[in-house]
Amino acid sequence: MKKLLLTLLFLLGIIACSKKQEPVVENKAEIQKLKVISTIFSTYDFTKEIGKEKTDVKLLLPPGVEAHSYEPTPRDIADINNADVFIYTSKEMEPWVEKLLSSISNKNLIIVDASKGIEMKEFDFEEHDDHENKEETHDEHTRGVDPHIWTDPLMAITIVENIYEGLISANVENKDYFEKNKVAYIEKLKELDGKFTDLISKSKKREIISGGHFVFGYLINRLELTYHSAYESFSPNAEPTPKQMQKLKEAIKEVGSKYVYFEELIDPKLAKLLSQELGMEMLLLHGAHNLSKEELEKGISYYDIMNQNIENLKLGLEYNENNNGN
Ligand SMILES: [Zn+2]
Repeated sequence: MKKLLLTLLFLLGIIACSKKQEPVVENKAEIQKLKVISTIFSTYDFTKEIGKEKTDVKLLLPPGVEAHSYEPTPRDIADINNADVFIYTSKEMEPWVEKLLSSISNKNLIIVDASKGIEMKEFDFEEHDDHENKEETHDEHTRGVDPHIWTDPLMAITIVENIYEGLISANVENKDYFEKNKVAYIEKLKELDGKFTDLISKSKKREIISGGHFVFGYLINRLELTYHSAYESFSPNAEPTPKQMQKLKEAIKEVGSKYVYFEELIDPKLAKLLSQELGMEMLLLHGAHNLSKEELEKGISYYDIMNQNIENLKLGLEYNENNNGN
């Protein structure tokens, strides 16, 4: 009996000790960190670049999940309700956001629309075509607004500014810290943009053959490149028609391209088909919507992704660093 009592006292001692230990320094530091939730990978990565150790940033998309068809789970909604800052890309990218925000009870939640101040556009693939085969009507082009604003480094700068505003609204004490990080990161985005300009000025070709959906519209439009795809939509779930496939194959022949680009996290069946049928080499053009589990574990950033995209585009566009404009 005495032994049992001693054991019991000992156990109670452990519980008491562990209880006492709970709210020590480590936890206080955790509490002070700004809790931020970001819907897609790019805005998540931008937020980490600005907030660094003063923020605890969570990516809403689970690893490897395709971004366009994602809908938040009840757990996600509870997490957003408990956060300090919630960042979404736009109503076009996350159509579920309006309904979600009306159900949020956390009155202190700072909500950031990353697309604020960005003029979103509707792109028409035909615009850059040679207009020879004009029998198609515009009714076939029901695409809507292009949500992929983050793939253009200059638009990414506006997104970064919007995120920064959100962070200081929630935590003005760290304004100087956030600002310093923001300014440094914007320099990196400008550097990326400079690399794209260099890529275009020293490349022989102007055409991109894609087996994926239309992700780089803003950048391609700004750099005056032509984009050929069988997908006449921004949605990665669309299926190309035989007529669209035929058109794409004709474009490939005309352009004389040896490379076909595919996108991340989506089965590249069209690119594979073209690779098998026409012997084209497949190259990744990463849209930075989300990362695979392996990529997340490696700690790959938006900056890494865009640098790799530039390297892959150098092949397809026949870049020559000794070219001085043509
Ligand atoms: Zn997309």
